[in-house]
Amino acid sequence: MSHLMQNYGRLPVSFSSGSGAIVRDSDGKEYLDALCGLAVTGLGHDHEGVTAALTRQARSLLHSSNLYEVPDQSRLAERLCAMSGMDRVFFGNSGAEANEAAIKIARLWGNRQDTPRGTIIVMEGSFHGRTMATLTATGSRKAQAGFEPLLKGFVRAPYNDVEAIEQIARNNSDVIAVLLEPIQGEGGIVVPGDGYLQALRRICDEQQWLLMLDEVQTGNGRTGAFFAYQHADILPDVVTTAKGLGNGVPIGACLAKGVAAEVLTPGTHGSTFGGNPLVCAAANAVVDALEDGTLMARAKQLGDRIANGLGERLRGDNRVREIRGKGLMIGIELTGPCGELVTQGLDRGILLNVTQDNVVRLLPPLIITDEQADAICDHVAALIEGK
Ligand code: PLP
Repeated sequence: MSHLMQNYGRLPVSFSSGSGAIVRDSDGKEYLDALCGLAVTGLGHDHEGVTAALTRQARSLLHSSNLYEVPDQSRLAERLCAMSGMDRVFFGNSGAEANEAAIKIARLWGNRQDTPRGTIIVMEGSFHGRTMATLTATGSRKAQAGFEPLLKGFVRAPYNDVEAIEQIARNNSDVIAVLLEPIQGEGGIVVPGDGYLQALRRICDEQQWLLMLDEVQTGNGRTGAFFAYQHADILPDVVTTAKGLGNGVPIGACLAKGVAAEVLTPGTHGSTFGGNPLVCAAANAVVDALEDGTLMARAKQLGDRIANGLGERLRGDNRVREIRGKGLMIGIELTGPCGELVTQGLDRGILLNVTQDNVVRLLPPLIITDEQADAICDHVAALIEGK
């Protein structure tokens, strides 16, 4: 009997090593990693800079405490703010914790208004994590089922629907913030229309709401910009990230700007491990790799190459409803369920994922070669054609 709680449906394979975009299982079989452990190892496995930083840091100091100054944490915050246009950062250990911090910022700020406000608008089809607050924010009845009572103070709107938000603005005076993913990941790689984020920015300004973006999956260069909102040329009040920020080392970050950056004061929030010297060493190495923009430009190029390659290979295939995404966040929506492609992919030697039952999700590392990008197209097209 397994002594692990049975909350995951695991595939019958385990991995023992990796380098770049290749991972090896315990029998030595190699796989092309087109998933990055769900958008985590964006710089690939055994990245030279990250491995060196971790090794160096492990030899000097793993952990001190947020009771003290943590210079690498301050440095990471400064660099993330420079890359994002934000003012301050809180570090936690996961995407859910980063979003939890955002929700707490909204509530604290709301309760400090002359007439306190506490409602957060969240989206249908969203995913924000598995803690009680982030689960409440998540737009999936399946994920929420059985965990009632959920938290109060969330209203849900259809994604990519500006009029729905305007309507809430007219009818609900308790709103304090809007929380959404700039591209929905778990929801099926749903890319909103041009102008959507700008429209939300305008409404948030008019209503004095915080615009809070969950870039846990879209962040850290994956879409071709450090954060996806940078494609839309707007600034949110709060942005959260995690996954790719540590390239496999658990770290989450909640960045904020203006009034939102001043809300947390001593005693209002915290985390024992958050932003400790080890994880900040890894994340600073990730920023080292992304900072000059070359890899992000490459992510865009590679994403176009894969999406166009798949488009050509699968043109006219009536099983394919749509190929969409941005940069190296690519979804191929099929007309019917396709979960079995994940195990068929393992047999062929490629790691990919299926979300929403019928969307093949590709999240390859930013460091793949053109040949590896073409190999991803070949594998995925063959898998779909074989259906
Ligand atoms: N937000 C988004 C957009 C995500 O995709 C995820 C994870 O898939 C989360 C939050 C939760 O992150 P974590 O699993 O690190 O708590």
